[in-house]
Amino acid sequence: MKRALVTGGSGGIGAAICRRLAADSCHVYVHANRNLARASALADEIRAAGGAAEAVSFDVTDVAACRATLEALVESEPIQILVNNAGIHDDAVFPGMRAEQWHRVLDVSLNGFFNVTQPLTLPMIRSRWGRIVNITSVAGLTGNRGQANYAAAKGALHAATKSLSLELASRGVTVNAVAPGVIRTAMSDGVFDDASIAALVPMKRAGQPEDVASAVAFLASDQASYISGQVLSVNGGMI
Ligand code: NDP
Repeated sequence: MKRALVTGGSGGIGAAICRRLAADSCHVYVHANRNLARASALADEIRAAGGAAEAVSFDVTDVAACRATLEALVESEPIQILVNNAGIHDDAVFPGMRAEQWHRVLDVSLNGFFNVTQPLTLPMIRSRWGRIVNITSVAGLTGNRGQANYAAAKGALHAATKSLSLELASRGVTVNAVAPGVIRTAMSDGVFDDASIAALVPMKRAGQPEDVASAVAFLASDQASYISGQVLSVNGGMI
């Protein structure tokens, strides 16, 4: 049974990814930061349905906490599937963006990728099979008004995805990104009304967290063993 860590498993998209990987027979670590109770409830739900799951919590911006928790987790066995999904946005038009807004969004979404991925990489390499999937955003491909910080973090993740994929290609480890468009979760609620979704999305509807989870599950599977360094958009045809 492969062990999978999904950061931000307490959130909307992360929860769908956890359920899907558990249904695909992975032992899933459902990660949370502040909402550990939500991650624990999801792990309970997965176990009740016959799957394998545990909740873990740490702040992805805390280098020492990431290292301590993750090194302990891989002491006996590697985590072979890592989904870097934890992320935040804090939007403001650029002239009014506070330095804290800029730094915080990059710290969670970009530095969090480094803090979580690095301690897991060598054990994954040694096992000669691994999947790293980074959840980015259409904003990282096209940019978005009011999201210079968020788009910078997600665009940088695309570049990191491609670079790391080159380093790990010969080791049986693939590194890809899934770039969602508008997906119905707490993060997007209140940001987009139905009219703006209809204007933005050719399919005229928001996606569901399960749409993202399907793409992640594919990239995490054996079927995707020859796919690395790619950005797979899940956005109803936006770009
Ligand atoms: P949610 O707000 O529902 O979930 C965000 C998750 O990130 C939560 O589990 C939260 O943990 C975790 N998180 C936030 N800050 C930290 C931190 N400092 N350390 C550890 N974990 C943290 O968002 P979504 O499910 O909608 O988004 C998931 C990913 O998908 C994000 O990367 C987002 O950028 C991306 N995305 C979402 C889109 C959408 O339309 N929803 C569109 C494009 C991309 P906790 O709650 O436990 O604190």
